[in-house]
Amino acid sequence: MNTVTRIENENRKRHVLVVDDENINRMILGHILQDEFEVFYAADGKKALEFIQKEYENLSIILLDLLMPEMDGFQLLEILSNDQKYKNIPVIVLTSEKKAEIRSLQMGAVDFIPKPYEMPEVIRARVKRSIKLAEENTLLNAVKNDSLTQLYNKEFFYQYALDLDRFHADQDMDMLVLNINRFHIVNELYGHKTGDKLLLGIAESLRFFLQKNIGLACRCYSDTFYVYIPHRNDYDTLFLNFISEVESRSGLYGISMRAGVYENCDKQLSLDQRIDRAARACSTCKKTYKSSIAMFDKAQLEKELYCEKLVRETDRALREKQFKVHYQPKFNIEGDTPVLSSAEALIRWYHPELGMISPGVFIPLFEENGLIQKLDNYVWNEAASQINRWKKELGIKLPVSVNVSRVDMFDPRLEEELLDIVKKNELSPDELFLEITESAYSDNSSGFIEIIDRLRSCGFKIEMDDFGSGYSSLNMLSSIPIDILKLDMAFIRKMCDNEKNLHMVEIIMDIAKFLDVPVVAEGVETEEQYRILKNMGCNVIQGYYFSKPLPPEALDDMLLTRSAPGARINHQQ
Ligand code: C2E
Ligand code: CA
Ligand code: CA
Repeated sequence: MNTVTRIENENRKRHVLVVDDENINRMILGHILQDEFEVFYAADGKKALEFIQKEYENLSIILLDLLMPEMDGFQLLEILSNDQKYKNIPVIVLTSEKKAEIRSLQMGAVDFIPKPYEMPEVIRARVKRSIKLAEENTLLNAVKNDSLTQLYNKEFFYQYALDLDRFHADQDMDMLVLNINRFHIVNELYGHKTGDKLLLGIAESLRFFLQKNIGLACRCYSDTFYVYIPHRNDYDTLFLNFISEVESRSGLYGISMRAGVYENCDKQLSLDQRIDRAARACSTCKKTYKSSIAMFDKAQLEKELYCEKLVRETDRALREKQFKVHYQPKFNIEGDTPVLSSAEALIRWYHPELGMISPGVFIPLFEENGLIQKLDNYVWNEAASQINRWKKELGIKLPVSVNVSRVDMFDPRLEEELLDIVKKNELSPDELFLEITESAYSDNSSGFIEIIDRLRSCGFKIEMDDFGSGYSSLNMLSSIPIDILKLDMAFIRKMCDNEKNLHMVEIIMDIAKFLDVPVVAEGVETEEQYRILKNMGCNVIQGYYFSKPLPPEALDDMLLTRSAPGARINHQQ
């Protein structure tokens, strides 16, 4: 019903349809109402329906007799109350039976007028009041509902959702966000009318579904719908059924939608927060040609919040020295007895509340937000001063490898910073090995090689880390300047599973021989792995088989007893 025309025509005569099979009754009512209303007549339900179908937009009220031939009043009432177009037209039932009054009120009639018609004033007053109420209700609906789909708008959705929580406090509820994939393309390609048809199809399907279940739906904006319903476990099938319902109602096939579900909502959260969670799940669906539904993952959110906390606390942690550098020994296994030949500096975060946090957790985060440069710089300084301390306190020279992130490599001050660190700690550059992961090489090979060349000409040793995990081509490898190849741990882990994996490691050893560089195998945990690698000619081993990464003090003994004789500094010299 068009509210605007209603308001504009406040003073027009309202149209009344009198439906009664008895001519005399029609005449009496017509007589009572005709001064104030435009009165139309129908002699049975069927004729009335025909009239309503044509005139429903102008019709203000229906006065309906119940007992009639063809189609009786109950049948007509049922049709009207189930049709979105007619359900807002108020119906007053004309009857002489008390029982029928109750039934018709239950079926959606707004009032009744008892027969015989005795008090014209009362009848006119009742008709007027029912029209007024219905018009006010229509006005309210216009505010309450989205004008295209007639679903609630966002404000009313929120209000009713809160009511639902209040009146069904024990009911577990789910919040859903629905969206059409690439809706703008539907509009562009087929026009807005088709777009609207699709939105209406969705709204009708939602209404159809909600008829059978308690719950609420609204169109929040454009092609985004919110649904708040009791918890259920069958979303995968439900969603598929829903899509076919939308297709058959809209007549548009092959549509693609995405949905996100926040299950068993925490009712302490605001509705906005619950919707955010459903929307976050929805955003994880791919916007492809296929419909998909995703559940909100609480563990994922907790992980994100945890990461956020870490990032926020990094500066303070650096100031408070919560980061500690550990050292994992590397053993040269070329001779009969393995000798401690160097170590890798690996960072750990000792968080006052969260305990020890592994670099696997925070390094990827810091690589994203740039904090990694600050942290690496800290580690390089720590490692250099540790090398110096070992030299001074134990008289042993142990080169240490530090990890250099991809981001560091493009810092124009990298060379200068490393040289400063070395100088400050009275070291020569070849005491600091730089581990650079293989994948960094393939990202930007030409610029990269230049940087590496410069670092090497300063005297730093370059280790290619995680070798085999990236996609370096043999062609590229032969032109890359490196000093040490460090085999990716995954090869060692799988090496003993089957012949094929073992053969892979052999091939990599051959590549190293071809490049004429020593090989470090990391992640060596067992005697078997150690033996195999030794037989293949692997030069250096790092792994739990020898030692886990340790705090520097814990390495002192090992340095004194297992270093190569050449590592001792002759103080007399
Ligand atoms: P990565 O550079 O490949 O370091 C080797 C990792 O393997 C270390 O893990 C080490 O503790 C672990 N590992 C060594 N031997 C074994 C073994 O036998 N078995 C098993 N299961 N693991 C072994 P961690 O210390 O957790 O470091 C993880 C990653 O974090 C490192 O991988 C490196 O990429 C990064 N990282 C650590 N410290 C730093 C740093 O100071 N700067 C940068 N940029 N990255 C760092
Ligand atoms: Ca490394
Ligand atoms: Ca590695």
